[in-house]
Amino acid sequence: MVTIVRKKMRYDYRKYLLIILLFSSFSFSVGVSAQPLPQTAHRAKNVIYLIGDGMSLPQIYGAMLATGQDLSFKQFPYSGIVTTRSASNEITDSSASGTALSCGKKTKNGMVGMNPDSIPVKSVLEVMAEQGKMTGVVVTSYVTHATPAVFYSKVPKRSFYDDIAEQLLNSDKVNVIIGGGRKYFNQRQDGRNLIEEMQNKGWKVYDTLAGIDVACRKYAVLANQGHMPSVAMRGDFLPNATKTALQTLSKNEKGFFMMVEGSQIDFACHESDSATMVAEMLDFDKTLRVALDFAQKDGNTLVVVTADHETGGLTLIDPQGRYSSPCFAFSTHSHTCLPVAVFAFGPGSDQFTGWMDNTEIVGKILNACGLDAMEATRETRQDMEPIRENFDSKRE
Ligand code: MG
Ligand code: ZN
Repeated sequence: MVTIVRKKMRYDYRKYLLIILLFSSFSFSVGVSAQPLPQTAHRAKNVIYLIGDGMSLPQIYGAMLATGQDLSFKQFPYSGIVTTRSASNEITDSSASGTALSCGKKTKNGMVGMNPDSIPVKSVLEVMAEQGKMTGVVVTSYVTHATPAVFYSKVPKRSFYDDIAEQLLNSDKVNVIIGGGRKYFNQRQDGRNLIEEMQNKGWKVYDTLAGIDVACRKYAVLANQGHMPSVAMRGDFLPNATKTALQTLSKNEKGFFMMVEGSQIDFACHESDSATMVAEMLDFDKTLRVALDFAQKDGNTLVVVTADHETGGLTLIDPQGRYSSPCFAFSTHSHTCLPVAVFAFGPGSDQFTGWMDNTEIVGKILNACGLDAMEATRETRQDMEPIRENFDSKRE
């Protein structure tokens, strides 16, 4: 058993300077995969894509040690290693790595759904919607936060929450969205009430999971003004929201694509709060079980679990150096460049092995569904114009 400690370890960073310099002298050439992948015999009709924000092996294994439980990660038949650097930084933020995970393109830290030249790029959610699949996004952060935003919006700065909310209002690609961040719809700088505007455009808008008409094909659940509270307060919101969205999306004949984020693993690690990190990991694991149960019964659903980056520089050490009583030790309040893991189950899951870059995951997902990843990528550049002028003058 690991002891949960909130104490932050202090390191002499000078000791590590040489190592860091050695690492940074390598020039990592990160190739965006444009190779068509071999077709798998059994195609996936549905995709559930789960992202643990800030989750790498220390968070996963630490949660297992701390609780003495085997988490669902061990049930996935295929797993691999994923590098996360962005176009601008060795250490990525959630918008650049989210853009890689959703659109298959590297971009600069802070940018959402566009390449480094501010050219919007198409997300896997948008490609799936064009195929007649229903789509869903379920998170515990603002629905306008970086990780959900990269699936439906294109802005040069992740802090343009009001613009992201407006792009959600106008999206004809998103069927179901669940999370927090209602203030970007009803307490806006421009004074507009986007909730009313959404209702006028055919969205149903709810403020709790209770009483949702799951037969409705387009709805938003904006369950808090800000982020959802941490798991101790919000309870089983994430697994329940995932079940609710699955009820709606699984009614679609042509299948569905859903992204579910354990948004607050990252928040806890920024705070060096290992107890909350473990609780958020258990909540994410409960959500994985919802996805796996659905996929096991359904037989046509690909489940992919990964992360955007590691947060906290978390490790498991014995402070006495005796190899016997591991405890959590955070080494930073920020993100690190530690690679993350990917786990996959279902049709096409055999592609998710070995060492890969985060830009390669979308191609593998599209391939599992029998879609040509190269074709989807090519289309991206032709049908979208640069929109830099529209945003450059806006506030941060
Ligand atoms: Mg996030
Ligand atoms: Zn973070």
